[in-house]
Amino acid sequence: MAKRIWERAPVGEESNKSNWTNPDCVPFRELSHVCHLDAAISILRLGKIRSGLVYDESKLRDYRICVAWFSPNYWHLGSRYGNVAFNFAWPDLIEELDPFWVERLEGKVPAHRFLFSAVDRTSLGLIPYDPSRHKGPWALRDSGHVRNGDVCLEVMLERDVRVGESSKLSFVDHHGSYCNIRRDGCADSALSASRGGAIFLAKLVSERIKPPNGLIRNDESTVDGAMEFLAAQLVRKRWKTPRGVREGSKRAPSVARAVLSAYGLRAFNDAKTLKLFFRTPEDLLSAVIAECEACLGFGPELDAV
Ligand SMILES: [Zn+2]
Repeated sequence: MAKRIWERAPVGEESNKSNWTNPDCVPFRELSHVCHLDAAISILRLGKIRSGLVYDESKLRDYRICVAWFSPNYWHLGSRYGNVAFNFAWPDLIEELDPFWVERLEGKVPAHRFLFSAVDRTSLGLIPYDPSRHKGPWALRDSGHVRNGDVCLEVMLERDVRVGESSKLSFVDHHGSYCNIRRDGCADSALSASRGGAIFLAKLVSERIKPPNGLIRNDESTVDGAMEFLAAQLVRKRWKTPRGVREGSKRAPSVARAVLSAYGLRAFNDAKTLKLFFRTPEDLLSAVIAECEACLGFGPELDAV
């Protein structure tokens, strides 16, 4: 039988050393949907990752099929998909859906794509894929799910995906020059995980968008890093406005949210002007902490000042 195209990037052999994994055979336990800051805010407003039509070079672009995108890959030089990652456990995410091999999309880094659907998609030319039998970049072994970590794996789900208890948000760097939305002029281009995360959290808190329980947690290091970065930015220089707003005053929550709103809009000069309405950095930070705790259940440390 002719070699299937997925056999060009098979999962390798498991390492027999206990403290080593072969890069072409790594455990497959998690994957994520990564997106830009504005898209992530929309996901939180909706409570779900909405599936959409396929626009790139995929063979599925000719069909009115709507998918949500995920990948287990982590890009050390930054992601071209944005700063916010919604992480899900594998294989829980694909429960009750059938796997189909879609394609290997050639490019600088070839993408290996699977579709998961509740509908039989063989009529679109897709091939049912069995990870315990087929030798592609994803396999089911005695040890569990594994993947070829040397290649790009893309997972398309033919349904909307709710964000909540089963998912966890983290921040990643946006790549310095590649972006999946805009070749030039992406507002998030080259934003670090901390800076992008700080803008995102400021926007969320200022608009009082409450995330589902457990989605945004401060025991996630990138969330904690973004929160501390935000606090450090807000109180970078000392000031004293003798008759300014004090922590705990009636006006403190509104002015704190105005500062966060300006920061979330990246109007950093406005944020600098507005923060001077507070008497001291300590007063500002205490008010910001209260707003963050009301929205997220946690805030930055007061010792950021
Ligand atoms: Zn971008």
